[in-house]
Amino acid sequence: MEIKKSEFVISAPLVSKCPTDDKPEYAFIGRSNVGKSSLINMLCNNKKLAKTSSTPGKTLLINHFIINNEWYIVDLPGYGFAKHSKSIKQRLEKMISSYILQREQLVNVFVLIDVRHEQQKIDREFIDWLGESNVPFTIVFTKSDKLGPGKARQNAQDWMNKLKDRWESLPPYFITSSEKKNGRDEVLDYIDGINKN
Ligand code: GDP
Repeated sequence: MEIKKSEFVISAPLVSKCPTDDKPEYAFIGRSNVGKSSLINMLCNNKKLAKTSSTPGKTLLINHFIINNEWYIVDLPGYGFAKHSKSIKQRLEKMISSYILQREQLVNVFVLIDVRHEQQKIDREFIDWLGESNVPFTIVFTKSDKLGPGKARQNAQDWMNKLKDRWESLPPYFITSSEKKNGRDEVLDYIDGINKN
């Protein structure tokens, strides 16, 4: 798929403030610093689209970007950031879970994982919760350029295999690097395939 146009639409504090049209939405989520903004910008070929974690405030909201006037990328707040107070964390958790469980336009959640890291409890719990809630999701491994291609593939496979203790069928996964623009076509073709169905 070619991305001809990508534009910021709204930063919403609540699901009820999200856009009211019924275009399909693809949400991106992961731990803070996983490379979510960089991935969104890389997918859209637009370095300034998603704000990086260092931009105060933006990362606590549900951010909608309209792509080719047809579908949305939804940038959800990063989870598991120790910096936030307990009350902010609780508010974020509630906002994220109500978006994921209630938003009818949501088609797929992309869960971002830094390919260098061992499986973390917080990622595992989030993924188990998505599975239990029957939410379609895909794993996107990030920052693969920080490892060699063979090592990145191996880490990703090991990481996926660790899900097998509870889940019989595993979700699809992609290995990406925003730095090298790797995995871009694969992720966009995946979205295109769903949109065309
Ligand atoms: P976010 O908090 O998940 O939105 O993460 P950012 O996109 O702001 O990225 C966090 C840090 O990781 C920044 O310093 C990025 O430059 C770096 N980063 C993100 N993606 C990549 C990547 O694919 N390769 C490398 N080498 N660094 C990356």
